[in-house]
Amino acid sequence: MNVAAILKAKGRDVATAPSTSTVEAIARQLAERRIGAIVVIGHDGPSARGVVLGIISERDIIRGIATRGAACLSEPVSSLMTRQVVGCRENEGLDVVIAKMTAGRFRHLPVLEDGELVGLISIGDVVKHHIAEVEMEATALKSYLVSG
Ligand code: AMP
Repeated sequence: MNVAAILKAKGRDVATAPSTSTVEAIARQLAERRIGAIVVIGHDGPSARGVVLGIISERDIIRGIATRGAACLSEPVSSLMTRQVVGCRENEGLDVVIAKMTAGRFRHLPVLEDGELVGLISIGDVVKHHIAEVEMEATALKSYLVSG
């Protein structure tokens, strides 16, 4: 199974925001959409969906409040976001994306094709599909053993 299979099941909608959004607006968007991260985009390039400038997760906001106080809520998201975004491609397997998330200690991976944002997968999506894959393999093995 690969990233494309996950996107086929969950869709390609990605929660995005411009870098001028306030941290408070981002927090509201995270709560309303019940998600953990938002991709920050700019519209300088040729891509209709914009270029990825960074990613902000609930962890960045908690860290911002803990170190800088509630005043950070009125700052632009660019002050708290992570700029070095690690992405993945549709043809990458689950083992590869699990390794990226584990090594980077993050739970979200934007899916990029030729620099274009085409989706986002979370650790929850990956675990769900990984379990389904393992269960399918176990069922196939059991029926092989029974038929043998
Ligand atoms: P998360 O586990 O996704 O809540 O993110 C934990 C930290 O990693 C936060 O500082 C995020 O901004 C950052 N982060 C999340 N996803 C990525 C990613 N794909 N590439 C780089 N940093 C990320």
